[in-house]
Amino acid sequence: MSAFEMAARDAASVKVDSTAIEALEGDLRGSVLLPASAGYDQARLIWNGMIDRHPAMIVRCAGAADVAAAVNFGREHDLLIAVKGGGHNVAGNAVCDGGLMIDLSDMRYVRADPGTRRARAGGGATWGDFDAETQIFGLATTGGLISGTGVAGLTLGGGIGWLSRSHGLACDNLVSVDVVTAAGDRVRASEDENPDLFWGLKGGSGNFGIATSFEFQLHPVGPSVFAGMTLYPLDEAQEMLLWFRDFMAQAPDALGGLAGLVATPDGAQVLALIGVYNDEPSQGEAVLKPLRQARQPLLDTFAATPYRRIQTLFDAGSPPGLRYYWKSSFLDSLPAEAAETVVAQARKSPSPSSKVFVEFLGGAVSRIPRESAVFDHRGSSYNLLIIGGWENPAQDEANRTWVRETWQAMKPFESEGVYVNYLGTESDEGGNRLAEAYGPGKYERLVALKRKYDPTNLFRMNQNIRPDASG
Ligand SMILES: Cc1cc2nc3c(=O)[nH]c(=O)nc-3n(C[C@H](O)[C@H](O)[C@H](O)COP(=O)(O)OP(=O)(O)OC[C@H]3O[C@@H](n4cnc5c(N)ncnc54)[C@H](O)[C@@H]3O)c2cc1C
Repeated sequence: MSAFEMAARDAASVKVDSTAIEALEGDLRGSVLLPASAGYDQARLIWNGMIDRHPAMIVRCAGAADVAAAVNFGREHDLLIAVKGGGHNVAGNAVCDGGLMIDLSDMRYVRADPGTRRARAGGGATWGDFDAETQIFGLATTGGLISGTGVAGLTLGGGIGWLSRSHGLACDNLVSVDVVTAAGDRVRASEDENPDLFWGLKGGSGNFGIATSFEFQLHPVGPSVFAGMTLYPLDEAQEMLLWFRDFMAQAPDALGGLAGLVATPDGAQVLALIGVYNDEPSQGEAVLKPLRQARQPLLDTFAATPYRRIQTLFDAGSPPGLRYYWKSSFLDSLPAEAAETVVAQARKSPSPSSKVFVEFLGGAVSRIPRESAVFDHRGSSYNLLIIGGWENPAQDEANRTWVRETWQAMKPFESEGVYVNYLGTESDEGGNRLAEAYGPGKYERLVALKRKYDPTNLFRMNQNIRPDASG
């Protein structure tokens, strides 16, 4: 019998017998991967190439029973646990060094029911999986802008997408969630069952257990929507960003919008103004006409387009494996000085893969009552996301510095709080950033919920709410 040294939760390490691992493997429908196993290196990879961690053991779960077995194993052996859904979180919380990684990425089933207009998705499903199975019925719910992002992580943090202004955040469309708690119990959370937990799952990140399936309310969407983008040279970016701000302020809720300072494939820096109209394409064409006529763009891609294709619009621009570093803030207003500042910072970007996004909120997001979910930023009009992306490790400092300087330069315009799904690591974000993300009053309630569902902080590789925090 041999023993494996593994990272522990509250000590440096712990020894785990090989017989215990064999017994766990015997219980699973899925598999256990150790560092020498085929597939181990692929399984430990996540989207952000800056994160290169080596778990001592990966449990690839085939279903909720496997998740419960892995949680019990991790708790009984006092192991450091990381949970992987889609693996897109920029902070890298889906993977740990030396501990146990509970990997849900084989649990990608999605079942849509056109009769009830509901869909159920496994804890490792991606938005690409979800849209494929719901769009065959012409249905959808608010989901991520990139098809590889996990339904789990995105929804547990809130979930902003093209449909947010029509239907609220992804978490606002949850009907129920099946969860494996820290005690290894399988519970259901909904408005009627464990409503406190249900509230906590709508923005409280992965703190309260492992979600093994999500049930969503669906809405008629597409299958074609009027959508696309217009591009402008950087010299016209400030003026057109302000024009778009005013246009979106008057736009119907059916229009989802985003402004991006990005580089084209040939390296030219441009402003992209993107719109997705979630209703009749002919109406969308009329609504978007003023944008397309405001000024001659470098490119105009607006057309009736399958919603599924729109949901992959950014895929090529955010490939997995690059090195990434992000910072983000909510903005209440976007005055001329803010537009001038952000364009000036874009000019200094050290990498063509870096970008700055302004996501337009409002609409249904702002009308859903604040108390209904943990997500607390419904009054903010814009979400600013500064994305550093580059290939060469020698460029790490230059890129991180550009992201930080851009974020600092935009500080005078930010409002309170930050979107939990765009937060980096705790050590990088510092201070009270996490409490700010969860919002005043809500953080205290979340601490109490953490004490109830995870008193020993078994699930800590996340935007962590500590059970012993004073709130
Ligand atoms: C390319 C890209 C595009 C994005 N686009 C959007 C967007 O359009 N809108 C938006 O709102 N956000 C977006 N995000 C942010 C995204 O919502 C977060 O990064 C989110 O955490 C990703 O979820 P995941 O399951 O892919 O990530 P993971 O890294 O697997 O998980 C994220 C966190 O959730 C926990 N977790 C994962 N699965 C589970 C589970 N089943 N149960 C409990 N905890 C779990 C993990 O432990 C980790 O702490 C994007 C991110 C990227 C990288």
